[in-house]
Amino acid sequence: MKLIESQAKAIFAEAGIPVPTGRVATTPEEARAIAQEIGGRVVVKAQVPIGGRGKAGGIQLADDPDGAFQQAQRILGMDVRGYKVERVLVEQAAEIAQEFYLGITVDRDRQANVVILSAAGGMDIEEIAEKHPEKVAKLWLNAGLGLRDFHIRQLAAQAGVPAELLKQLAPIMRKVYDILLSHDATLVEINPLARLGDGRLVALDGKMEIDDNALFRQQKLAALKEDEGDHPLELEARRRGLAYVKLDGNVGVIGNGAGLVMTTLDMIQRNGGKAANFLDIGGGAKAEVVRNALEVVLSDPDVKSVLINVFGGITRCDEVAQGLLDVMRSMEVKVPVVVRLVGTREEEGRRLLEGTELTPAATFQEAARKAVLAAQS
Ligand code: GDP
Ligand code: MN
Repeated sequence: MKLIESQAKAIFAEAGIPVPTGRVATTPEEARAIAQEIGGRVVVKAQVPIGGRGKAGGIQLADDPDGAFQQAQRILGMDVRGYKVERVLVEQAAEIAQEFYLGITVDRDRQANVVILSAAGGMDIEEIAEKHPEKVAKLWLNAGLGLRDFHIRQLAAQAGVPAELLKQLAPIMRKVYDILLSHDATLVEINPLARLGDGRLVALDGKMEIDDNALFRQQKLAALKEDEGDHPLELEARRRGLAYVKLDGNVGVIGNGAGLVMTTLDMIQRNGGKAANFLDIGGGAKAEVVRNALEVVLSDPDVKSVLINVFGGITRCDEVAQGLLDVMRSMEVKVPVVVRLVGTREEEGRRLLEGTELTPAATFQEAARKAVLAAQS
């Protein structure tokens, strides 16, 4: 599997390789907020699993938060070499003095890992290697010996990297090698590894390929792979920290506790309907969680009615009711929302909902029947 830039950089940062400050955004508004946090000039970068994004227009600089908003608006949804852009990385812009290439990959012919270093970074390494092979230094490693300091000095000298950069380059190279081994990667690449105006070496781009046969022992990475095949609503729900599964019916379901939610799915089925999703807001859910849950469920175009089934234990019914009302006030809700609240503070919860457009239900059975009917009509 391939890791995109933001994922590779997260691994770099964790290992102590310098990367620019930044975060991923899925909307122009988010991009603006991140740019605001960072302050100053930022670069907005399309997150797709392919190189050459710069040339394709997927990397743009912005002077201020509004500029970041505009660039993100342009790049999101853009097609970069066959990939639709759904995320952008917004980072502190770098003032680049020089660009290096650094990569370690598996050379299957030689049955060894090969370290590649070049002072002609920035572009495709294949292109540099073809046109100017003398500018690309390569060194094949013995697995038992690993990457030693004399290897690093040899590579740097061969690639023409200035000696004063060795102090920064050596630990970065060692970390890249450690990452390759610890992540079962077949490629770890930094291109460009940039020397900034102030002399610092920073990884401005990152690329990793993981051996799929090793994913069973790389569970964090395997989870990233699962993301790829997931429904966009499931990804959105996960981003909001919700336990959500998309189903193929038309009654949206929100409940607290996995058991209660599953029983609710059964009850909908028994009443002749079909659930559009599973969503467990968990115990002790606050208004904010309820709000997130309802927003996700309502953004599903399949949903024709919503059934909210809450048994108040640690969860307080009035908290839930408040969350519901907040959402109802802040967005246009076009489908009927049936609510059954019992348990802790149910009286207070019900009172809050009186006279609103929410449909109350006294029992579980009544709630399921009303929600199914509403979805059918
Ligand atoms: P790729 O084209 O997909 O490999 O994407 P990169 O992340 O390598 O970016 C391509 C080029 O954009 C780099 O080689 C840089 O020249 C330029 N670039 C990327 N980030 C910055 C930045 O923060 N500031 C400046 N000035 N240029 C950048
Ligand atoms: Mn690059």
